[in-house]
Amino acid sequence: DVDRTALHVLMADEAVPIGPAPAGESYLRGEKIIAAAKETGAEAIHPGYGFLSENPTFCRAVEKEGIVFIGPTAEAMEVMGDKLASRRKMLKSGVPVVPGTDEAVTDPEVAIKIAEKIGYPVLLKASAGGGGKGMRIVREAGEMASALRQTMGEAGSAFGNDAIFVEKYIEDPKHIEVQVLGDGQGRAIHVFERECSVQRRHQKVIEESPSPSLTPALREEICAAAVQTAEAIDYRGAGTVEFILAPGGKFYFLEMNTRLQVEHPITELVTGCDLVQAMVKIAQGEGICYRQEDISQRGWAIEFRLYAEDPGKNFAPSIGKILSMTVPQGPGVRLDTGVYEGFEVPIHYDPMLAKLVVWAEDREQAIARSKRILGEFALHGPVHNLPFHLWALDQPAFRDGSY
Ligand code: ADP
Repeated sequence: DVDRTALHVLMADEAVPIGPAPAGESYLRGEKIIAAAKETGAEAIHPGYGFLSENPTFCRAVEKEGIVFIGPTAEAMEVMGDKLASRRKMLKSGVPVVPGTDEAVTDPEVAIKIAEKIGYPVLLKASAGGGGKGMRIVREAGEMASALRQTMGEAGSAFGNDAIFVEKYIEDPKHIEVQVLGDGQGRAIHVFERECSVQRRHQKVIEESPSPSLTPALREEICAAAVQTAEAIDYRGAGTVEFILAPGGKFYFLEMNTRLQVEHPITELVTGCDLVQAMVKIAQGEGICYRQEDISQRGWAIEFRLYAEDPGKNFAPSIGKILSMTVPQGPGVRLDTGVYEGFEVPIHYDPMLAKLVVWAEDREQAIARSKRILGEFALHGPVHNLPFHLWALDQPAFRDGSY
């Protein structure tokens, strides 16, 4: 109901109400979405990101109705939706994982033994965690018991699963992820990497592609590991394999996101591949529409997530009507927006308003162009984080890529 006037609804040929504002009564109710598909005669469902996009039960229900699910199989989601299960799978297939356990830990004494073996600091992680939640750093044995209790409690209430595991906490890490496309028959290709190390509360804020942290040799290695990951589970459709890169150049599998990523536009700008089209073609049974040898990186792209939140008030969410919006133009500018002038930003969902994406011939020019674009973009109404992006761009650590 609250999205009655949302941009995607206004742009659609047909729209079907699926329920009231709380996601639990609408966007998370698979049966309502399937009913809407049947009512309109839709042959396929693209799950987007968030909500049910990585939910194997929904995927199965869609396929059972004879509707095409534009994404991976339920089995792939199950393996990758559980961090412990995916760690075990990767250990078996030879993809490097962060040193740690592959069984759930409940006893602090056991956790301390593991931590002593792999070395402090360690990270307690919820197997079912996501969105940067359900993680706690432990720097010494004395902190273990209470940290474990708290993380288990949080994971139990947030994800309905209190399985916790221990892994090495990598200091000064880089988050590098690789876009993959799989044909569902055991063959996959990669569409190069994205660097997503600019984060707040373990959530991405600015992403860029290529990564300034990779040498050509390391790029080749990490992309090969991503293809190996996708092929190990006969992955179908578009997915992202996330790695953590340690300062010495070692990288480890973190998790796989079995859906389109928010930050997919930077890959599209740098490679020229249309990832959503590729997803649809795979779902239609046409296989992967690109050949590995035809995909290359050209230039540099940066994405800024524009959030309705106030950086001056510790990023508190902000709502209200968009009174005016001036969109920058010019070469190498892409705005993926969910809002428009007159739109009322609701409190109910993710605070992301738009993604400002910039492309240029190299990183320096991409930064210069970003400054111009961010300076020209004007949005009045809710408070947003654009000034924060401008600040971040000027930090020496961003300029030299060492963030
Ligand atoms: P989520 O499913 O919540 O996104 P991830 O496992 O992908 O969880 O981790 C999210 C972020 O947390 C990573 O991008 C990274 O910044 C940080 N992180 C995760 N694991 C580690 C680790 N072992 N050491 C250091 N940082 C980590």
